[in-house]
Amino acid sequence: MDAKGASYLPVYTTTKMEEVRFCQRCGSLTESHLRHGRLRPVCTRCGAIFFADPKVVVAVIAEMDGKIVMIRRDNEPGRGKWTIPGGFVDRGEVVEEAAVREFLEETGLKAEVTELVGIYSRPEDANILVVYGGKVIGGELAAGQETQEAGLFDLESLPPLAFERDVGILEEWQAAKARRRG
Ligand SMILES: [Zn+2]
Repeated sequence: MDAKGASYLPVYTTTKMEEVRFCQRCGSLTESHLRHGRLRPVCTRCGAIFFADPKVVVAVIAEMDGKIVMIRRDNEPGRGKWTIPGGFVDRGEVVEEAAVREFLEETGLKAEVTELVGIYSRPEDANILVVYGGKVIGGELAAGQETQEAGLFDLESLPPLAFERDVGILEEWQAAKARRRG
């Protein structure tokens, strides 16, 4: 994952509304009020409403030597456990380019994006996860700065996972791959 240290799985990386205590426009205290169907922080002075937008996380599933490239996380949540390489998309960044950048940062491998596997979201999760299938086109497998280890695994013998959701995502990716082969 990236410098922000959070992850695409919930484990409450979400900005809890009650933690937004000060107005981002004028700096005054906020209070929780019902606005647009939810309790939201509202500035006591200027009336500005704080809307907590989702963040976009992108991940890439790519193979090397017939195995899936995975990384062992060095950040919580899931520190010391494995996941597919990915991280946050910066505002203004093209999502596919963020996918390639994060994959390189975490694995040392250059990749190109080949297809969209899926877009995953769920209630109370601050992050929307976009998963691409990819193809390794260069580089050498090596752990990035915020990665304990990079490794190759079969779907049938996955390491301890940071996020249980990865299992379903990897299965969807494999099913899509099998369909393409006919
Ligand atoms: Zn204000």
